Amino acid sequence: MLVKPFTRVHKRCAGATNGRRNDEVLSRMSRPASDADVIVVGAGPAGSTTAYYLARAGLDVLLLEKAAFPRDKVCGDGLTPRAVRQLIRMGVDINSPGWIRNQGLRVLGGGMRLLLHWPDLASYPDFGLVRTRTDFDEILARHAEKSGARLRESTLVTAPLLDERSGRVGGVIAQPLDDHGRRAGADTTYRAPLVVAADGVSSRLATAIRLHRRSDWPMGVAVRTYYRTPRHDDDWMESWLELWEKDKQGELKLLPGYGWIFGVGDGTSNVGLGVLNTSSAFGRVDYRQLLKRWVAQMPPEWEFSEENRVGEIRSAALPMAFNRQPHYSRGLLLVGDSGGMVNPFNGEGIDYAMEAADLAATVITDALARPAGPTQERVLRGYPAVLRQQHGGYFTVGRTFVKLIGDPRIMKLCTHRGLHHPTLMKFTLKLMANLTDHRDGDAIDRVVNVLTRLAPAA
Ligand SMILES: Cc1cc2nc3c(=O)[nH]c(=O)nc-3n(C[C@H](O)[C@H](O)[C@H](O)COP(=O)(O)OP(=O)(O)OC[C@H]3O[C@@H](n4cnc5c(N)ncnc54)[C@H](O)[C@@H]3O)c2cc1C
Repeated sequence: MLVKPFTRVHKRCAGATNGRRNDEVLSRMSRPASDADVIVVGAGPAGSTTAYYLARAGLDVLLLEKAAFPRDKVCGDGLTPRAVRQLIRMGVDINSPGWIRNQGLRVLGGGMRLLLHWPDLASYPDFGLVRTRTDFDEILARHAEKSGARLRESTLVTAPLLDERSGRVGGVIAQPLDDHGRRAGADTTYRAPLVVAADGVSSRLATAIRLHRRSDWPMGVAVRTYYRTPRHDDDWMESWLELWEKDKQGELKLLPGYGWIFGVGDGTSNVGLGVLNTSSAFGRVDYRQLLKRWVAQMPPEWEFSEENRVGEIRSAALPMAFNRQPHYSRGLLLVGDSGGMVNPFNGEGIDYAMEAADLAATVITDALARPAGPTQERVLRGYPAVLRQQHGGYFTVGRTFVKLIGDPRIMKLCTHRGLHHPTLMKFTLKLMANLTDHRDGDAIDRVVNVLTRLAPAA
């Protein structure tokens, strides 16, 4: 294994050394350049947001990403007001061309068609956005770079660097890749006192230190593609609550999940569906065929034909409700999908990844202001504790919900009865999108907040 220093001295952004003494900065610059205060692995929403906040706090951050931007990522591309709030806080310019706004959800099911506006809240904006992940992830990664993070693309992290005695992560081993994703050089070791695993659902780093997924926790599978359609600039996010599939006996059963159509505004819509592993049909369903069958029944005005399909139908897993824990262990923090941070109610993960990134960066900044030792460890253990406090109860309620709707009878009851009650639907929207005010909220907010506060943390 080759320990290779960088040849270029990192150019820090103005203000990035705020509050730091000059001699500290000089000593850092004279260190081998492969050192950093923090290494962040993966430049998806979790990694880039973490890197952005760390760089803003004046830390030297190395952000390693195996792909080269722009790159595709299988996703619905939908951003609810929760995610929009994060973008606003980071100063991402969401008024520039390419962002398409929406005013709420159009829900179809049980013979009903409901328009549910995003709620009017003090804590969140009242609009959502859609942006392809090809654009979105590059925007966030460049935003982190502009704030001072050092982004290394085409860099595949293959293993954590472990201290033999303590088992603590003290860096990573990585290899450069060429344009075709093939190995293009010798391994490089990057060292840092703290490493963030923002490497997505499979998280090679987390599994390398034996932080495994809970297989009894809910998981989802989602597939998506794009279609050319005249309704590409729809300002509602459309959700179809009825996905039917034949069971072993050949009977049609309602699956726990939903289909979506999110207008991208570039002549296409993102069309997909997600199904939970709580139904007996899970694992036997051919999701690509299910998507094709579902799309074939769409009203003709969408013009969803095979000729109008753009690109493949691709699938990926949705790791939910904190299905990998603890979120901090031996020098490694898990942020985003690596820590199973997808909302079990609706399959959203971008906002939770970005919120956890903000929190992780705050905890890391506090921790690195202390000398290495037991007190610093106590600060770092605050990360999983606060995460559980913030979302643990909510995710527990979500886990119960997805277990319940695994029973097709309950799923049918929800879609066929629930949609007929406007107040119940308002409640459902706030609960499922996790959009409430914790202060001065309305009666629905208070019920949702009490429910999630009383539930034991996931
Ligand atoms: C079909 C589908 C639809 C979805 N729709 C939505 C939606 O509409 N809205 C929403 O909020 N969420 C949605 N989600 C969930 C959302 O995509 C994820 O929760 C989100 O991408 C998590 O971000 P992340 O940064 O944790 O992980 P990722 O986005 O997976 O990013 C991980 C990054 O790490 C890099 N990486 C991985 N391994 C390594 C390595 N060894 N070395 C270097 N780099 C590495 C990857 O290349 C990638 O860039 C959807 C998911 C699916 C599957």
